[in-house]
Amino acid sequence: DRQVYTFGGGVKHDDPRAKDKVITGGKGANLAEMAGIGLPVPPGFTITTEECVKYLAEGGDFSDQLRADVAEALTHIETTVGKTFGNPADPLLVSVRSGARVSMPGMMDTVLNLGLNDETVEGLAATSGDDRFAWDSYRRFVQMYSDVVLGVEHHLFEEALEIAKEDNGYLNDVEMSADDWRRIVKEYKGIVSAELGREFPQDVHEQLWGAIQAVFDSWDSDRAKVYRRLNDIPGDWGTAVNVQAMVFGNMGDTSATGVAFTRDPATGEKAYYGEWLVNAQGEDVVAGIRTPQYLTRAARERAGAKPLSMEEAMPEAYAELAAVFELLEKHYRDMQDIEFTVQQNKLWMLQTRSGKRTAKAALKMAVDMVEEGLIDEATAIKRVDPMALDQLLHPTLDPKAPRDVLGKGLPASPGAASGVIVLDADTAEKRAEMGEAVVLVRVETSPEDIHGMHAAKGILTARGGMTSHAAVVARGMGRPCVSGASGLSIDMKSRTLRMGTRELKEGDLITLDGATGEIMAGEVPTIEPELAGDFATLMEWADRHRRMKVRTNAETPADCRMARQFGAEGIGLCRTEHMFFDAGRISAVRQMILAEDEAGRRAALAKLLPEQRADFQAIFEVMAGLPVTIRLLDPPLHEFLPHGDAEFAELSETIGIGVDTLKRRADELHEFNPMLGHRGCRLGITFPEIYEMQARAIFEAACDVAAASGEAIVPEVMIPLVATRRELQILKKVVDDAAAKVFAEQGRTLDYLVGTMIELPRAALMAGEIAEEAKFFSFGTNDLTQTTLGVSRDDAARFLSPYVEKGIYPRDPFVSLDIEGVGQLVQLGAERGRATYAGIKLGICGEHGGDPASIAFCETVGLDYVSASPYRVPIARLAAAQAAL
Ligand code: PEP
Ligand code: MG
Repeated sequence: DRQVYTFGGGVKHDDPRAKDKVITGGKGANLAEMAGIGLPVPPGFTITTEECVKYLAEGGDFSDQLRADVAEALTHIETTVGKTFGNPADPLLVSVRSGARVSMPGMMDTVLNLGLNDETVEGLAATSGDDRFAWDSYRRFVQMYSDVVLGVEHHLFEEALEIAKEDNGYLNDVEMSADDWRRIVKEYKGIVSAELGREFPQDVHEQLWGAIQAVFDSWDSDRAKVYRRLNDIPGDWGTAVNVQAMVFGNMGDTSATGVAFTRDPATGEKAYYGEWLVNAQGEDVVAGIRTPQYLTRAARERAGAKPLSMEEAMPEAYAELAAVFELLEKHYRDMQDIEFTVQQNKLWMLQTRSGKRTAKAALKMAVDMVEEGLIDEATAIKRVDPMALDQLLHPTLDPKAPRDVLGKGLPASPGAASGVIVLDADTAEKRAEMGEAVVLVRVETSPEDIHGMHAAKGILTARGGMTSHAAVVARGMGRPCVSGASGLSIDMKSRTLRMGTRELKEGDLITLDGATGEIMAGEVPTIEPELAGDFATLMEWADRHRRMKVRTNAETPADCRMARQFGAEGIGLCRTEHMFFDAGRISAVRQMILAEDEAGRRAALAKLLPEQRADFQAIFEVMAGLPVTIRLLDPPLHEFLPHGDAEFAELSETIGIGVDTLKRRADELHEFNPMLGHRGCRLGITFPEIYEMQARAIFEAACDVAAASGEAIVPEVMIPLVATRRELQILKKVVDDAAAKVFAEQGRTLDYLVGTMIELPRAALMAGEIAEEAKFFSFGTNDLTQTTLGVSRDDAARFLSPYVEKGIYPRDPFVSLDIEGVGQLVQLGAERGRATYAGIKLGICGEHGGDPASIAFCETVGLDYVSASPYRVPIARLAAAQAAL
């Protein structure tokens, strides 16, 4: 296979490798493509990524074959341009740029103006008729080459230039004359020989091979490695090298350089968008030395800016550029991000690629392009990153607003929230009732904080990971949350908190960015989400293309309603324990837990029955016609216990049992490892009357709502933390008996299903047997991850990020399913369950049900549905469609 591909100057390749990003990199492939469709591309050649991989693996010298191929390709440039590399009379200059398979902005190296030396600079001066331009180009080259290829520190050159300007009393580079630049070049070369003990290379071929080598080496630079890790880019791809004839945007006022997008990358609007600078080279736009100008007249007028747009200042070159925009969009069928140069009124294209865009712009462009007939629905669905929808569903911080960042935690639940700091749930509720916007700040949250979390605009915790209580509950409620902010300490005595060096007190304003995890002092302005229009259109398309259903994890009527608005097709998980914390009923719950015997428990449960029935009625009403999975009580009982003397005294008063007795019972309930303790179905096995009450409440509510609404209500009763078939068998009987009793009393029956969560490894392994008792499985991948990895979901935040940084797990396994490991258990559970009962309904209700990569996996396993927190429902709809396409 060839390792060097030429482009421009009318070359035609039959070899598909020339335009294959994998081989010639993104930049090289697109340059070849642009040249192929007849666009003005300066001629050049690309050395493949394969050559880079080989070079990095074998090290040492380049092969004779490569040297011969490069020499031949260089001749191609020379004949096309009519100049010769190294010719003192009329030299060819080239740029040398990296170009990986995907763009890694600014991560690797570029050298411009290569081919200049003490002789060719004179030739450039003569042919361009511009001494100053030639010497400025030479000094730019010496500086760039020395920095990138020779490893001489950049600042040494900057300092020399600063001193020269000072000595001359200049403020700006433009004041430098040809002679000034000539002196600077001399000084720069002196710096190089002083630093390296050898002269700056005058041989242009040595320059070229040095630059090629530097580009290859830059693939393994520290910053490139970090970038790859952050963006999941494999280290074995390598980069291509693009060598291309230089064109100059800095040849006076008929020359210019710029970057442009074929549509607005921020809003998606179909309008050219870009910046340009007259008489400048590419780095000048990027480096921000001069302020770039607007590309179009409309944009300039809208901004009320004075300096002429390119459309006005260079109408001909602009018209040519606009025609190129149209052509490129039609060709690539996507918004393009373009770099161009105008050399003495002649337009040259230096790069094109699919442009990065905001979520809003992605959505608008995808929908617009389908309407324009540019792409089909399936392509539109694939174009939008599901996670980016998050940005659209919540109010977000105004990106233009200044931020006074105090610290950072995990981006546990998206959206932006500003409010006064409050340090406990009761205060949060009180101050919110007074109409204040509050942000609840806790070391960590527990189920008892729910009312405060609900009252708060946002939640910040010092501990806990992405599936900590705070994170799960906040996502469910759609509250922005930053969790595990390890730099945060709270002093409850003085009611102050400390972040880094800053101290704040309760009542001070802060702002959370749940999308980035940033915590800011004061209030940062926000912008509201837009759910109609393009969003609704794309969602409708997604629904047409997906196979899996999307349900929601919700337990309040308000959340259920919101989830339905977001398109939820049922409830996949209603966690009943959250209902036990309501102010009106917690004392009955405590009475039940602390009771000495079954009779005592039953007395307390009788008080809870009407409350639970009302809970379920409200949910069935909102979800009428849709499946509702209700999970019976799951958490360890001691989570509901009173805290502190005051609460014990209050409870003692309410239920008429002495404080000492209560405290003794509470002590008896203490567990060393409650997450593996007396929880889940183990509660049902030991205290069946609890599940009996819950089942009765479910069936009574279902009968009531079915009678009143005429809709079919099909409750799905779910037993948590099952490990064995026998557990499920015993508890299924409790549920069936309750159903039979209620149906007899009410004189009506309805369909219902009893099923189980698969959230322990044993349950997945024994799924074949368990399926004999279950009508459905719901994979509880939070606990399944916790128990398979042996990693506590509530403590993971402290050590999991180094794990991810070191690549031990590719991503936080509580956020994105460990497909390799935990995924096997899901796969196995599904297969074994289906082998026993082909019609078994399979779903997932762990946090992974809202994660696109995990959803794609669920599609491959053939699950019937995923269930996600309400705000994740649209994300899941889109991800499920992408997975099915
Ligand atoms: C799970 O374990 O995945 C699950 C959904 O249940 P919970 O998060 O309530 O333990
Ligand atoms: Mg669980």
